[in-house]
Amino acid sequence: MLSKSKAALHRLYLRSPLWRMKISTKITCLYAAILLIVLMFTSIIMGLGIYFSFYHEADREINIAMEGVKRGLGSSGSLQEFLEAGSVVPPGIVLRVTDLTGRVVYETDSRYPSLDMVEKYRVKNPPFWADKSMDVVAFDRFTIYHATMDVVDHGQVYQMHFFRTITTENYFLEHLQQLIFIITIIGFIVALLAGYFLSSRILQPIRDLTQTARKIEVERMDRRIEVPPAHDELAELASTFNHMLDRLERGFQQQQRFVSDASHELRTPVTVILGYSDLLSRWGSSDKKILEEGITAIRSEAEDMQDLIEKLLFLARADQKRQILHKDVINLAEVVDDAVRKMQLVTKKHTLTLAENEAGLIFADPATMRQMMRIFLENAVKYTPEGGHIEVASRCVPAEKAMRLTFADNGIGIAEEDQSKIFERFYRADTSRTKQAGSVGGTGLGLSIASWIAEQHDIAIDVESQLGQGTKFILTIPLADEQTIKEHGQQA
Ligand code: ADP
Repeated sequence: MLSKSKAALHRLYLRSPLWRMKISTKITCLYAAILLIVLMFTSIIMGLGIYFSFYHEADREINIAMEGVKRGLGSSGSLQEFLEAGSVVPPGIVLRVTDLTGRVVYETDSRYPSLDMVEKYRVKNPPFWADKSMDVVAFDRFTIYHATMDVVDHGQVYQMHFFRTITTENYFLEHLQQLIFIITIIGFIVALLAGYFLSSRILQPIRDLTQTARKIEVERMDRRIEVPPAHDELAELASTFNHMLDRLERGFQQQQRFVSDASHELRTPVTVILGYSDLLSRWGSSDKKILEEGITAIRSEAEDMQDLIEKLLFLARADQKRQILHKDVINLAEVVDDAVRKMQLVTKKHTLTLAENEAGLIFADPATMRQMMRIFLENAVKYTPEGGHIEVASRCVPAEKAMRLTFADNGIGIAEEDQSKIFERFYRADTSRTKQAGSVGGTGLGLSIASWIAEQHDIAIDVESQLGQGTKFILTIPLADEQTIKEHGQQA
């Protein structure tokens, strides 16, 4: 029921011209309307209050006078006696006594309008606040109450007429009403103008925001909106908007750098391939040595390119949140063992040992976990000179409810200033040292992928490294909790 009437109200609002107005106009109209209602309400209440108190005061006094007369008549012997005693009614009340023929036999004020006049000016429909037992008589300048009471004296019926002035200044009251009306209208207009001016001023930052938003282009993302000094909602909106732009700008710059770095990385192998194909087209058919060398080089470059493209695609999928992970409860020891054994098969010039491999159930995607371990192992091999030693160890740390997996090598190490940057995309530490290690050098994407995978599994990565001494990557992998183990069971 409520939602129906709400929907009907909403439809009415959409049909009205109100919803197409500017917010400042809407606020102004709304507040001016509220003010008008309040002003009208108070002036009506005030006007009614004035009239009500005048009428009430008058009928109260007439009633008191009538009571007094009744009591006086009871204690005196006759009407004549009572009237002659004097001060029969309190001041302000006029008493007139008539006999059956309508002749005035007594009156306290002869200047008061005659009974004929009173009858002539009697109000047919008195206001609702008037006493129903009395007549209201409205003359031009003043209004009076008229009440009657019959008395019997010595067999004769007399009628007592009580009068009391309600208002002496009808003109004044009319003027007062007009004045209140004019003040209401002026107040309304002032509220309308002031409201419009103020709401326009207050909403100025929103207009600025719109202007700035209009001017922002992909090429001009450095524009920012001016944050108003007040700590209000608009200042908050402006600074949130600016922060959003900061993030967008940073993201956009990263994207641009990524594209240019990727193109740059692809250019080298393509140039090499083109160079060798030229060489082959010229000498390949006659010189077998050149033919073999060319084919090997082209193949190696193509493999590098394939590796780079695979990594780029992985990161692109990760950025677009399209990289799907199939998490399950798995035994970390099995994954570590598998990764190390595979690496041992291809590592001929280094010793690779698995010092310790404790069992531990983790909730992870086995494929990406293997990929991450391969990255650390390949790096350790790449950045450790021939004959070097690589040690992998996996221990359970019950206090942290985690597994501690370490990859330690005695290779070239990473300089202090590079350690925080190696996880950035395309970042490679000093290439001259890399050459010393006899490595071909990588793409600078491996650790970015590893850190993305780690992030997806709540894994913390720490680096301990000293130049010339070696590097140790320490991974803290959370153990699966009992609830997860129950839900998924051990699949691995
Ligand atoms: P890359 O393909 O160049 O290996 P990574 O993102 O895997 O890219 O690594 C980034 C950089 O971190 C490497 O260029 C290298 O300088 C440094 N690095 C990574 N692992 C090691 C390590 N085990 N020993 C020394 N330096 C390392």
